[in-house]
Amino acid sequence: MDILYNSTRSTGDPVKASEAILRGLSEDGGLFVPDRIPALDKSLEELADMTYGQVAYEVMKLYLTDFTEQELKECIAKAYDDKFDTEEIAPMVQAGGAWYLELFHGATIAFKDMALSILPHLLTTSARKNHVKNEIVILTATSGDTGKAALAGFADVEGTRIVVFYPKDGVSKIQEKQMITQKGKNTYVVGIHGNFDDAQTGVKQIFGDKELAAYMDEKGFQFSSANSINIGRLVPQIVYYVYAYVKLLKEEQIKNGEKINVVVPTGNFGNILAAFYAKEMGLPIDKLICASNENKVLFDFFRTGTYDRNREFMLTSSPSMDILISSNLERLIYRICGNDWRKNKEFMDALGEKGSYAITEKMRAQLADFYGNYADEKETAETIHELYEHTGYVIDPHTAVAACVYEKYKKETGDEKPAVIVSTASPYKFTRSVMDAIDHKYDAMEDFELVDLLSERSKVKVPRAIEEIRTAPVLHDHICEKNRMKETVMEFLGI
Ligand SMILES: *Cc1c(COP(=O)(O)O)cnc(C)c1O
Repeated sequence: MDILYNSTRSTGDPVKASEAILRGLSEDGGLFVPDRIPALDKSLEELADMTYGQVAYEVMKLYLTDFTEQELKECIAKAYDDKFDTEEIAPMVQAGGAWYLELFHGATIAFKDMALSILPHLLTTSARKNHVKNEIVILTATSGDTGKAALAGFADVEGTRIVVFYPKDGVSKIQEKQMITQKGKNTYVVGIHGNFDDAQTGVKQIFGDKELAAYMDEKGFQFSSANSINIGRLVPQIVYYVYAYVKLLKEEQIKNGEKINVVVPTGNFGNILAAFYAKEMGLPIDKLICASNENKVLFDFFRTGTYDRNREFMLTSSPSMDILISSNLERLIYRICGNDWRKNKEFMDALGEKGSYAITEKMRAQLADFYGNYADEKETAETIHELYEHTGYVIDPHTAVAACVYEKYKKETGDEKPAVIVSTASPYKFTRSVMDAIDHKYDAMEDFELVDLLSERSKVKVPRAIEEIRTAPVLHDHICEKNRMKETVMEFLGI
């Protein structure tokens, strides 16, 4: 039976997976959620003999039920190919008493690649299935990382164009270089005079412009978003939890059915929600350990039952987790209030109006599988340092937040079950923070000098993504004022 997708904020008509992917967000502002969580229909032993792509098919087919076998297999084949620097796609490394699941072997060496390399194909397939004739134009505002991952995913994908706006003086030099050297005749990268909020506000205005949408339609275009709340980004993330478990099984590190803990460095709550779905599908996961940096809204939420974004925003060395509103948490809230959209909407309205809400005791009781904690900046750097000193393995600051929280969890609970720590970025993506944590004497060095030193010390080859930008020519030099974003998009589309 087909799985249909409901909005978390109204009864609306449930939609098929392909429609949910095309729409991204429901018109009422809610997120699409599957009407039930399917159970795995292959045994863990069967899955253990499969490649990453094969596991991806077995998991994703259960959610994207209106895709044909051929459609889904094609999407998977186009996504998980030699854009990744290892055939395993998501390899695991044992270090310091845990397994690190490395999700950074894709084009931009961070975990967003796991979903953004397949989303363009899911999106174009969905457009075809729903008889959309228009070319899809992806609009993204970025503070650095998502923009590059989206560009890499959509570059030269037939039937799509992508426009990325970034704050001209608000991203790191390496991040800017990564974006402005992006190849692909359908890509357009624009620096704006303004900050990230200006870029985001501008993009939201373009999305909300009904007149523009009608004009675009006339010219054969329509907008879409690669935002992390798209179900087409969530579903591919369930795959690597299943893959990790069955690899441990195959390598006889665990017994069939033995429970493991997973530790996830969390920002928008997408990655850990995927782990929760994997558990609900029958994967033997015990605790879902949610690791935050100093922006510890989620830690406070798990401890007190109150979600409160009214606090100072901290800039940390794990910037992809510098978030005060974890959008994907809404899917969990909806579920623990009994899939009741009215109740969920009350919470979300309160979040919008006063910046906080408190869940009931009955809802809290359903969060027993989650454990939340956080790591401050000092602890994060110490974790990188200690792991390197003891094992030679180098992790990035996001992963270090998770590793630190895992140690706190073990100390607090004594739970020593096998654990998978999700490694969300290559240390090469945050070379300066990483090298500084290893030794302060590197402070004064140039970025690329640090890259070479990291390679020397970690004995890990410099990834292609970094090697390329040393010499890659600049292909984008567009700059625009923050109030000219719409005109800039139209110019790019030639309309
Ligand atoms: C996006 C990101 C995260 C946070 O993932 P969520 O799904 O938003 O919780 C963690 N680490 C890195 C490196 C990221 O890019």
